Amino acid sequence: MIIEIDQNSGFCFGVVEAIRKAEETLLQQDVLYCLGDIVHNDAEVDRLTKNGLITIDHERFFTMKDATVLLRAHGEPPSTYEYARQNNIRLIDATCPVVLKLQQRIRLGYESGKANNAQFVIFGKKGHAEVNGLVGQTKGEAIVLEGTSELDKLDFTRPIELYSQTTKDLEGFHLLADELERRAINVPVKIHDTVCRQVAHRIPAIRQFSARFELILFVSGLKSSNGKMLYNICKSVNPNSKFISSIEELDARWIESIDSVGICGATSTPKNLLEEVAEVVRKLAIEKFK
Ligand code: SF4
Repeated sequence: MIIEIDQNSGFCFGVVEAIRKAEETLLQQDVLYCLGDIVHNDAEVDRLTKNGLITIDHERFFTMKDATVLLRAHGEPPSTYEYARQNNIRLIDATCPVVLKLQQRIRLGYESGKANNAQFVIFGKKGHAEVNGLVGQTKGEAIVLEGTSELDKLDFTRPIELYSQTTKDLEGFHLLADELERRAINVPVKIHDTVCRQVAHRIPAIRQFSARFELILFVSGLKSSNGKMLYNICKSVNPNSKFISSIEELDARWIESIDSVGICGATSTPKNLLEEVAEVVRKLAIEKFK
């Protein structure tokens, strides 16, 4: 049986850096709080938890003082930094540089665009941590759109500035941008393509990869946005694609009548988990041919 791991899968550099900062800090102190899951992968969160990382939600954060808190790669709105300043919270800021730059672009765009009565639009998932951080750059005024079906929320007689959550798909972004330009009534529409290429470049690669195997095992945490998006792409190319979050979810029946398996995952899936999945498939294949 052919068993292959997609070489483009595994953590993106933003996640690698956040984990590095957490590990580095935990060498100097016993406890480090992390605002939200450091990565949407339970196995990796469990590993870091054993080393002293404590994941907290925003509700708990806004009751804390005198602590050290890591901000993960998704980034945070200005209110988080403000609260930390007022409550003696030391922040280890692991916001991905790509997200930081995007926050800055939106903040500057908002400050200069306000005078023109512009509307700020973010193509993204409502309530997603990164999107909350981006909306925070516009004092909460940006309108979040998940797709073209929500365009009636906009006033097409006012200028529009469009940005994207970094992990959205380029195709969806261009569809939305084209529709905005088509509907705008004699007003400027500024399109800022802010999709992260770490994810975007995986799309054509994962399409090709999915087409080469009889079965695709897509490994990702359930909470990962890019995980869902990349899995849907696998599924559209190869209907025999299975989404699993852990080795326990592997079903031996899936490989009963096939000869090739491709294993891939999201930007939050550790390479070692893909290797463990490959190992289990290998053992199941040996059993099958006994
Ligand atoms: S997907 Fe891109 S923007 Fe998001 S954390 Fe990874 S490198 Fe940074």
